[in-house]
Amino acid sequence: MAKTTVTTSIAYINAEPHIGFLLELVAADVLARYYRLQGDDVFFLTGTDEHGVKVQRAAEALKQKPQQYADAVAAKFQKVTKDFSISNDYFVRTTDAKHAEFVQKSWKKLTEAGVISKRKYEGLYCAGCEAFKTEREIDNGKCVIHEVELEKVAEENYYLELSDQTKTAIRSWIESIEPETKRAEVLNILEDFEGVSVSRPKDKLSWGIPVPGDPDQVMYVWVDALLNYLSALVAADKSVAEYWPAIQVIGKDIVKFHAVIWPTILLALELPLPKKLLVHGFITVDGKKMSKSLGNVISPSELEARYGVEATRYLLLRQLNFYSDSNFVWKEFDALYEGELANGLGNLVNRTINLLAKCREKGVSVTPYEPKIDSALISADFSGELQQVNELISAADQWISEVKPWEWLKSGKVSADQAENLLQQSSIIEIASRLEPFMPETAKNIRAQLKSLKPQPLFPRLST
Ligand SMILES: [Zn+2]
Repeated sequence: MAKTTVTTSIAYINAEPHIGFLLELVAADVLARYYRLQGDDVFFLTGTDEHGVKVQRAAEALKQKPQQYADAVAAKFQKVTKDFSISNDYFVRTTDAKHAEFVQKSWKKLTEAGVISKRKYEGLYCAGCEAFKTEREIDNGKCVIHEVELEKVAEENYYLELSDQTKTAIRSWIESIEPETKRAEVLNILEDFEGVSVSRPKDKLSWGIPVPGDPDQVMYVWVDALLNYLSALVAADKSVAEYWPAIQVIGKDIVKFHAVIWPTILLALELPLPKKLLVHGFITVDGKKMSKSLGNVISPSELEARYGVEATRYLLLRQLNFYSDSNFVWKEFDALYEGELANGLGNLVNRTINLLAKCREKGVSVTPYEPKIDSALISADFSGELQQVNELISAADQWISEVKPWEWLKSGKVSADQAENLLQQSSIIEIASRLEPFMPETAKNIRAQLKSLKPQPLFPRLST
């Protein structure tokens, strides 16, 4: 059995879960479910990134211990995975003892391999990114992501360096990155990228994993965080040799870490580079990034309340451009829900089940079949896959309108061939199979209706 590992990035717990992370979770879940349906042995991983200055400060602001704060926020992220039928096999937390142990062991290997060494480091530091920024990431002295003034920091830290050999290896792996437009960005980063600080003095950062053998230094959140993809396999008793490399889903703000630093770590640990690195865009609201201070954060539970779990999963991947930025508009989600789910899919299934029920009343039954499907999900093309499903729905509607099967029924004569043809032309078996990774309960529901021939509405009308 082929082994496939799918990962999301781990969510940073300095803020509550919002729909940007939900989009990533759902996309990765669709892939995990797709590969399981193909018969693969899938390990699907998500989790939370819990160390760092921002978490330390957020806890202090609430007069809590960092661990207490981390436990509370991690529980909220775990709840989102449960609420939205995310089928992860493991939930990793970077404050797990097993993770810390794995990270410290790996750190030793990285220093032995000469990738990490101690040196004086000077740079411009963004507290928002928790990272030193390179020239390209700075505009007018400010971080291009956070638009905050950068601090000049000079410290003696551990430093991770990229050899020319590493850069060559990353360049030849670049085609594993989707979308294609991100590849040029990574090549640009590589060009002038020499390395990055991977630890900080303990007095600046206390909430983190200690550097082994150097009590004054704490690991910088990135090396700690990236190693979750391997530590979780070990913690879940899955062999790294069998389950690595993974298909990895991340947001565009962490491309540098996943396409440059992570490969450097993997190469030093003598492990293969990720099978695929799928990079999604940001969701904006009214053209602006969601943020607490703007008060425009949309929470997963708001979507669930309006559309339900299944439809929310569908709408996120159908309405938004996964691989680029998209603007969230409630009206557009409403229109798509009504148009494609309540009307399109819902009507087609309803019409077909009604007609098949009448065929059975005339003594003609149909047998469900196993459809053959070429899914666009093999290339992680979510919108392409849903586009094709909607084309099937339109074609089926058109066929039914033209052929008018209700006239056979009125005439009283229905042949077994006609009924079989109706089932096939309606495509509801193909549609259920193709939608299964996106809407597992809906797929089950369509199959159940096909068996019982008792029509049930799939998607209720929205309340106004
Ligand atoms: Zn920043």
